[in-house]
Amino acid sequence: MGHVFPRHTRQTLPVAVGGDGCYLIDHTGKRYLDGSGGAAVSCLGHSDADVVDAIKAQLDKIAFAHTGFMTSEPAETLADLLIEHAPGDLDRVYFVSGGSEATEAAIKLARQYFVEKGEIGRGRIIARKQSYHGNTIGALSAGGNEWRRAQFGPLLLDVSHIDPCYEYRLRRDDESPEDYGRRAANALEEELLRVGPDTVMAFMAEPVVGATAGAVPPAPGYFKRIREICDKYGVLLILDEVMCGMGRTGSLFACEQDGIAPDIACIAKGLGAGYQPIGAMLCTSEIYDTIAAGSGFFQHGHTYIGHPTATAAGLAVVRAMLDRGLIPRVVEQGDKLHRKLTDRFGQHPHVGDLRGRGLFRGIELVEDRASKAPFDPSRGVAGKIKKAAFEAGLICYPMSGTIDGRTGDHILLAPPFIIEDDQLDELVDKLDTAIAAVI
Ligand code: PMP
Repeated sequence: MGHVFPRHTRQTLPVAVGGDGCYLIDHTGKRYLDGSGGAAVSCLGHSDADVVDAIKAQLDKIAFAHTGFMTSEPAETLADLLIEHAPGDLDRVYFVSGGSEATEAAIKLARQYFVEKGEIGRGRIIARKQSYHGNTIGALSAGGNEWRRAQFGPLLLDVSHIDPCYEYRLRRDDESPEDYGRRAANALEEELLRVGPDTVMAFMAEPVVGATAGAVPPAPGYFKRIREICDKYGVLLILDEVMCGMGRTGSLFACEQDGIAPDIACIAKGLGAGYQPIGAMLCTSEIYDTIAAGSGFFQHGHTYIGHPTATAAGLAVVRAMLDRGLIPRVVEQGDKLHRKLTDRFGQHPHVGDLRGRGLFRGIELVEDRASKAPFDPSRGVAGKIKKAAFEAGLICYPMSGTIDGRTGDHILLAPPFIIEDDQLDELVDKLDTAIAAVI
């Protein structure tokens, strides 16, 4: 033991040896309630027999067949199922092995689409500050998380970053949520006009922001206006649902709740629920047909795209969500979690905002509630809460979002969809213990 390259080289981690529903078990037998599903991954918990059986059954048939030569039954069936339930005109599915591969493929697909159409000047992406779309260079370029980008400067592509839609910090007191949603979306049009709409291929955003600012839902009307602007200027809308998609917010695709559909959607995490590494990019027939009528070949690919075992896992996961009524359950348990968090922390002097949708919940921690002043970043408040919670037997996900150099501490909660009421209580109790130990 000891040769795996860890995330933090100075940390020694416990060894995960088992899973039991919403709990992870380490080598000492200690049980951890998985309050964040890792990072919004383990939506079915850690011991789902149907998914495990589906993987075993697929392994008994065929583990892998390269998509340069053959397709597979689980990949085809999963694609059909996703398209049946996808919003708008999404009509084709490209399976990859994770979130960054999905967003990276989306960026390349958008570029190739415009090249095939002869609009070769369209190469720019507009995305948002305080966003994360993955760690490969293209995806990292699109993301606006200053800390993650800092060391990779010369390699990153030229991308514009507009303000995120972030009511807690950016809505003015004299603005209604609807007015703010419109103003925040209009920032896209302003940026398009500034850089020249003919130079832009896509706008990329998470419907409910997860990875950089703890479950921030859009203001009402924000995405409707974004969709209008994209249509007006012929810009593709890429929605990154890697974290917030696949039932997590209470609908299979998060954007359904905003009444819009993208041209390209990226999903991952909950699609495999952690049982296999899998992600996907979905696109409209307009994009697919343009490439089919042009070169007939998407200039992209990885060895493991459309992996039969991974897609068999994804198929079992999505079927479980749909057949077991887990998505309405997300809404029900999510409302309960929100009520419990509000009861416990609603008046807490260091809790500035409690937000989210479904079982995707964020807590923003502040030094001072009235002024919303964040903690000094050097205190590392969110990281310390993660550590204290872990000691208490709770996994929760810390984040430090940054906009224009201002850092804030957030905790993301994304428990499995199967979480029971008493486990919601356990989650809130342990989180309370951890927060009290740190601030
Ligand atoms: N997009 C979003 C919104 C994410 O949250 C993540 C992962 N945190 C990614 C992309 C990248 O996914 P992966 O880590 O699977 O490459």
